[in-house]
Amino acid sequence: MTGPRKYDSRSQKRKAKEIRDMVIQSFAGSMDRYVKRKPNQSENENVIVNVNTGLDENDNAHDLHENEHVDGLNENIDDLNDNIEDLSENIDGLNDEAYDLCDPGNWKINISQKERDLIVETGPVRVSNFIYPVENNRSFNDKYYAGSLANGEKHDRPWLVYSRIKNKVFCFCCVLFKKGLSSHLTSANQGYNDWHNIYGRLVEHEKSSSHMLSMKAWKEAE
Ligand SMILES: [Zn+2]
Repeated sequence: MTGPRKYDSRSQKRKAKEIRDMVIQSFAGSMDRYVKRKPNQSENENVIVNVNTGLDENDNAHDLHENEHVDGLNENIDDLNDNIEDLSENIDGLNDEAYDLCDPGNWKINISQKERDLIVETGPVRVSNFIYPVENNRSFNDKYYAGSLANGEKHDRPWLVYSRIKNKVFCFCCVLFKKGLSSHLTSANQGYNDWHNIYGRLVEHEKSSSHMLSMKAWKEAE
């Protein structure tokens, strides 16, 4: 049983040697070819080096041009930064204006058409859940934004606006559209803050014909 295995082993060893020799010869041939080609490769390398040197010179030329471009770009960037600063200032200005017009305390008595259009477009900005300043033990209260009808139903008063900067209330549509005589509630440079009598004053105002005309003008302007 061991005989055939030994024979096989010798045979395999011989075959392995033949294969190894073939591989070595083949590798030697490859090495010869490699060695023979080496000078050519060196020439190629020299050419590559020369080409690279040429590229380096071109790169320097590019660098010179790029420096000019960089100067130009820096100037453009400076201009852009200036423009961005100008834009930021304009945006700040617009934000201030938008904020100011939200508070009726900032409206002018002789309001321009443009400002009135902007205010109407924005609509009344209702202040609520605010800690209203107390004067003579009284203050404005969110409950005044709603009125009561004769049948007890509540109705909203979209026209009633509170100014935080003045701690006063105004009638949105009468301040913007009322013609003729004005009152504290309907004048941009006054405002109403008689908190003791506000409830009765609001009921009286919303029933007045002048207020109804202002409401009509407001709706038509929207
Ligand atoms: Zn009114």
